[in-house]
Amino acid sequence: MIYTNFREIDKAGRIVISKDIRKHLNIRAGDVLHIEADDQCVTIKKAESKCVFCNALENLTEFAGKFVCCTCLDKLKKD
Ligand SMILES: [Zn+2]
Repeated sequence: MIYTNFREIDKAGRIVISKDIRKHLNIRAGDVLHIEADDQCVTIKKAESKCVFCNALENLTEFAGKFVCCTCLDKLKKD
């Protein structure tokens, strides 16, 4: 099923993702979304994995079902 909505961006640059899409993708308040843009499109994807400390989406290492980014991992090693 494809969901299509037309939404207006507010003055702060925010848009609302409709309830039906949030429910379909199991997106809840506090979840991290990955936003990408090229010359014509803005793509918003649900981030499946994020660093448990800083919410980074890249350079992740999994440990015991949680993800940690390399920057936080380096900080943990130093402490
Ligand atoms: Zn991190």
